[in-house]
Amino acid sequence: MQVKMILPALTEAKSPFWRPIKYHLFPPLGLATIASHFGPDDDIDLQDEHVEPLDLDDDPDLVVIQVYITNAYRAYAIADQYRDRGVYVVLGGLHVTALPEEARAHADTLFLGPGEDTWPVFLRDFRAGAPQPRYRSRERSLVGVPPLRRDLIKRHLYLVPNSLVVSRGCPHHCDFCYKDAFYAGGKSFYTQTVDAALAEIDQLPGRHLYFLDDHLFGNAAFASELFAGMKGMGRVWQAAATVTSILKPGLLEQAAAAGLRSLFVGFETLNSENLREQNKYHNLNRDYTAAVQRLRDAGVMINGSFVFGMDSDDETVFSRTVDWAVSQGIETATFHIMTPYPSTPLYERLQAQGRITSTHWDHYDTRHVVYQPMRLSPAALEAGYWQAYRDFYRWEAIFRGASVKSTWPDRLRHIAYAGGWKKCEPIWDLLIRAKQVNRLLPALEQVLASFGEPPPVTRVAEF
Ligand code: SF4
Repeated sequence: MQVKMILPALTEAKSPFWRPIKYHLFPPLGLATIASHFGPDDDIDLQDEHVEPLDLDDDPDLVVIQVYITNAYRAYAIADQYRDRGVYVVLGGLHVTALPEEARAHADTLFLGPGEDTWPVFLRDFRAGAPQPRYRSRERSLVGVPPLRRDLIKRHLYLVPNSLVVSRGCPHHCDFCYKDAFYAGGKSFYTQTVDAALAEIDQLPGRHLYFLDDHLFGNAAFASELFAGMKGMGRVWQAAATVTSILKPGLLEQAAAAGLRSLFVGFETLNSENLREQNKYHNLNRDYTAAVQRLRDAGVMINGSFVFGMDSDDETVFSRTVDWAVSQGIETATFHIMTPYPSTPLYERLQAQGRITSTHWDHYDTRHVVYQPMRLSPAALEAGYWQAYRDFYRWEAIFRGASVKSTWPDRLRHIAYAGGWKKCEPIWDLLIRAKQVNRLLPALEQVLASFGEPPPVTRVAEF
């Protein structure tokens, strides 16, 4: 069977805000995971529009398209094009799961939720000529799931080809978070076996890894065993975890000893009323400064995530947040305008209050205001968001953040990491155009490793 798997590009690819490096970071792991369910006789062509032009003139037996909110319109257009030619089209992903009635008009079959239980059933039905219009995942487990098809990933087109996911979901339930919609109807947090995760890590070339798990520390027993197994592998890696998990003694130190060098941390807001409103109780009354200090002591850089526009935010929120992050020596920050993704509790609440002002999904990109904020005008919220980015990434702020560090290697690493990410975009763009972005990976590894150099590894890099 000829199979075409497509990750359509965000429609913002045509917008002035398009940042090539942002979309050349991670390969399409979701589609590569689904691809593992096909047989050896199936011929699979996996294309990611973020990094390559799509070839849509073919005539496969089956087209599989991954849909997320800001690529939805593009995904539907591609699906319609294939269906007009009589090709069978399957849609899956977060947006399809959140809004199946919208997606239905563009697909022969919809996949709701993760696919490890439903894909084998669909393939059996499809080969028998009797596929169902909808498959909803319920029985979720990663035990015994075949390894994802890394051979389908064009590694040279990504800065971080060694991305991996060893768990699914998150044990928490924040109101603004999209993932609960995806995992509705079954388990919302589960992991691979540690052995399977270590085997996957072991076969990845080079040193750098990026765990794309929502919360790698979410199952402490699993994480502890994983980090113990990774110790001595000589890896340097990045991941995401919560403030609470960082404050707990033990796990962070184990992770750092196994090569953790940078962590994405969802601080989200410095206001406890906002945390309550968003059901983010695991951050409530947590000492953010102590969490930052623990990470610094462990030699782990921070990518802090912050959301603007919650109901207690007024016009002072932007400068207060940036000042706090800079004063803490946080290396990189990701700011978001609060976005009520469809089917989340936040969306339901704002809709009930008549505060949703747009359902144009292209604008659900955390850079546009799509609802009526409580204490800010939409224009002030959008302007404050952009100002926060400018203020945080000024050279003066980068140097001020670096000065918080107690040693010169730490200060230099801060400047190299923050400056490299935001100030060297012309170089990134040049290398992306030359299809050489992976040449920057050694530089990234070097910056990450400069604090607590891991032992050298013997793996042969493919880059
Ligand atoms: S902790 Fe993060 S991943 Fe988990 S529910 Fe909250 S926002 Fe989502």
